Amino acid sequence: MFSAPFDKPLPRQGDPRKFAQQGVHLAGYVPVSQLPRVRDLVLEEEGQVRVDLMFGISEEGKLVVQGSAAGDLVFTCQRCLGPVTLPVEADIGLALVRTEMDAKQLPRSMDPWLLPEEGNTELFPMVEEELLLSMPSVAFHDHPCIDEDLLSSGEPVEPEPAENPFQVLKQLKGSPKK
Ligand SMILES: [Zn+2]
Repeated sequence: MFSAPFDKPLPRQGDPRKFAQQGVHLAGYVPVSQLPRVRDLVLEEEGQVRVDLMFGISEEGKLVVQGSAAGDLVFTCQRCLGPVTLPVEADIGLALVRTEMDAKQLPRSMDPWLLPEEGNTELFPMVEEELLLSMPSVAFHDHPCIDEDLLSSGEPVEPEPAENPFQVLKQLKGSPKK
């Protein structure tokens, strides 16, 4: 259902101020492989992020962009270390500003997109930044993905909340081989 508008790649560059003055709507996909900082955090760099950007002028007369960036990304499960696919969705709502000073004067509800120069700018770094803010801090399967017996190898183990990934990892690493 969302496939139709996203069958094209998102342009790499554009002039956000001009887009805002003209009310441009951009929709397209960005390959995960083109987002180096996202790529560093995922297990597989195949896949795409769907990006939808509406440029315009806010009620206060500010140049703004609103939209979303969303995709199913493959992370390493912190419990079983296998691949786990999780949806990541970023809501984008940014005001186009020239200086840090302008950024500070924005209402709390708006984040700045700092664009000191006129003309074209790279669009992917903004998309990437917004996605990074929406990444899960830890990734897990939502089912019990490791064998409980493996964890309690021999010694009686106090029942522990399985939600703590580091505890589980510690047990796995520390399980005696003898
Ligand atoms: Zn898992």
